[in-house]
Amino acid sequence: MTQKRPRRTYDPGPHSRELSAALLGWFAAHRRDLPWRRTRDPYHIWVSEVMLQQTRVETVIPYYERWLQRFPTVEALATAPEDEVLKAWEGLGYYSRARNLHQAAREVVARYGGRVPDEPQALAALKGVGPYTAGAILSIAYNRPEPAVDGNVMRVLSRLFLIQDSVSEPATRRGMEDLARRLIPPGKAANFNQALMELGALICTPTQPRCDHCPVTRWCLARREGVAAQLPVKTAARAPRPVDMVAAVIRHQGRVLIVRRPSEGLLGGLWEFPAGERPSGVPWPRAVHMMLKERLGLAVEVEGHLCDVRHVFSHLVWNLKAYAAVPAPGESLPEEGEGLRWVTRDELRAFALPVAHQKIAAHLPDGPDS
Ligand code: SF4
Repeated sequence: MTQKRPRRTYDPGPHSRELSAALLGWFAAHRRDLPWRRTRDPYHIWVSEVMLQQTRVETVIPYYERWLQRFPTVEALATAPEDEVLKAWEGLGYYSRARNLHQAAREVVARYGGRVPDEPQALAALKGVGPYTAGAILSIAYNRPEPAVDGNVMRVLSRLFLIQDSVSEPATRRGMEDLARRLIPPGKAANFNQALMELGALICTPTQPRCDHCPVTRWCLARREGVAAQLPVKTAARAPRPVDMVAAVIRHQGRVLIVRRPSEGLLGGLWEFPAGERPSGVPWPRAVHMMLKERLGLAVEVEGHLCDVRHVFSHLVWNLKAYAAVPAPGESLPEEGEGLRWVTRDELRAFALPVAHQKIAAHLPDGPDS
């Protein structure tokens, strides 16, 4: 049985046409020249939208350009090995985005002959394509009147229409999608959705909205009430949970040991120095021994502390201490395989590592035995 999903209703008010027209006019004059705005190729739009989630425009631009050189078409991405895909994504974070994009590209090739679908349901069924990404592809690439409502757009709509429901609630998001759909002028979906996003990025910014420069200020209810900076309303997120981690850089004959994380879950499929959680109360070097025994069945001599790395995820904070180690005398070494390699410093560069482990790699000592 299909469950009815609650949604709230928001009224676009009597001036929605003028408001939309003013926004479009402002966008035509002030739009930034971004690489993904020079194309209507749905695959290119898709890549840009996935990269832009939780990531700044300036960071994304070089990644986007390199990605399209490497994987210029859906087919090129679909046939690439996962290691290559993750390497191209290295440093952008939230790696499930890359794995999902890769998987979805394979679905597009298998089911649609490599053409990104222009039907909402078909798009939304692809791995990792949520309502925002589907709306962005449909509107920007195909000019279909679908809303593309992300955090930026919710902030703008909360302020313009004085919406005081929490944007953390799905019912509010769905209500805002309906509202945004009703604001799209006929035939103008591509530019209108981008204009809303651009307003959120340049003018209606999170902490200090530039209302004096805003093209829609005269219709903005939050501005009129003087509460713009207090919107949107968000339900407080839980603070990330701190976790103590140890990692070991194990050297042997000029090589270091790296292992591959399970393909599902946090940083899935990336390579790292063997690492694990420090059990509470266990001294750090002792935790290194325990972790290596448990993960690899390997006894080591810990030579010393290499570096500390703190890495913040949305739900976790890693407080990671890395140690240099060598296999204990007489130990048989773990054998290379799918998820385990002994690599030189140079070879290490070809593997996609999480940012925390890239920082450890930067501390690898120089010299023939490093
Ligand atoms: Fe945002 Fe101010 Fe414009 Fe309202 S007037 S949409 S608060 S920038």
